[in-house]
Amino acid sequence: MIQLTQSEIALMRKAGALTRDALNYAETLIKPNISTLYIDNMVKKFIIDSGGIPSFLGYEGFPASICTSVNEMVVHGIPSKDVILKEGDIISIDVGVIYKGYNGDAARTFPVGKISPEKSKLIQVTRECFFEGIKHLQVGERLGKLSNAIQVHAEKNGYSVVRELVGHGIGKKMHMSPNVPNYGKETDGPIVIENTCLAIEPMINLGKRDVAMLEDGWGIVTRDHKPSAHYENTVLITKNGVEILTL
Ligand code: MG
Repeated sequence: MIQLTQSEIALMRKAGALTRDALNYAETLIKPNISTLYIDNMVKKFIIDSGGIPSFLGYEGFPASICTSVNEMVVHGIPSKDVILKEGDIISIDVGVIYKGYNGDAARTFPVGKISPEKSKLIQVTRECFFEGIKHLQVGERLGKLSNAIQVHAEKNGYSVVRELVGHGIGKKMHMSPNVPNYGKETDGPIVIENTCLAIEPMINLGKRDVAMLEDGWGIVTRDHKPSAHYENTVLITKNGVEILTL
């Protein structure tokens, strides 16, 4: 875990606020009969107009500014003019913004129009997993306490936790040490230190935990084609507690 100075923390707060604003803006666009590429174009413009840089664009060759993952897609969906939202879908939108060299990263799963109670509960519990997790995130404790709390909450509700993808340290780079799994034992992981930032991002499946990668080399889908939800925030950990930078 990399400790940040107070001036770096100020920049992380600003990057987080821009990320939050972009995600809130994305939410206003969601409705049936629009393409995921339309959302990408609009959010890209919003981020740039706000003084940020869309960090996903060109990241390891990723071709868009946001990830749009519909229904059984867990994460990393490439926005496309051919993916048209319809009533009853759920869409996970993941946004990353760089501000003066510092990164914010956040994701939410949104309903498209009216969705089934089953999908609605999945979205709600995935969000709860994040908040259950951060109750156990504390300076001097093992990071595994957070990971374990997320897994316990998901599985208590009959869901499963994706293992192949995890949260991460964040700061000058989007993906930094340590890994932040959404599963594991309380005794796992590093000891949490103060003035560090993490992107915590439960990816929770309605069915089985197994996932596969699409032929495009990006999209991750559930193998049983059941829906998946994602909820991510960038957080700052200080000796006074956890501050959510993207909410
Ligand atoms: Mg992330």
